Amino acid sequence: MEMVSVKIRKEVVQCLACKKPIDFLFLSDFSYGERLVYSDAGLPCAFCRLIDDKVYDEYGELVRQVLKDNLKEISEDKILDLITETFGVTCDEINGNKVDFSKKQKKECLFCGGNNFSRNTIEPESYIEIELPLVSHEKWLNMEFKEKYELVKREVLKE
Ligand SMILES: [Zn+2]
Repeated sequence: MEMVSVKIRKEVVQCLACKKPIDFLFLSDFSYGERLVYSDAGLPCAFCRLIDDKVYDEYGELVRQVLKDNLKEISEDKILDLITETFGVTCDEINGNKVDFSKKQKKECLFCGGNNFSRNTIEPESYIEIELPLVSHEKWLNMEFKEKYELVKREVLKE
């Protein structure tokens, strides 16, 4: 597993219930085409560069193909969301966990579970570097076209 060093913007806000400081981590603002992958606990657990990921282009084309073959007409915005949200199916598991791009950062206090926070940050925003596994696609790259197509079909026609 390849590890990458990722620059993260840290915002500290205050939990309105227990008054403890809570960190929220975001990718720095100059990160077009890059995504953090979040774990079930809502913490960053991997990193993905969509912009130079050939599999992302391939996956996008396949999603469009499946939609077309199944006469599904949805708006371009929805197609792009669908591609990004379901892209995890092409990714290798990380430490036994599926990569799921639809998971978001959990906006919840670690101490009391509250979800109301001060509107303003209570510390100047800062940047930190964290080491995260880079998303890989070994398994996907070894699949036959038909297998990929079926996988995408299951994912895309789920609803
Ligand atoms: Zn709290």
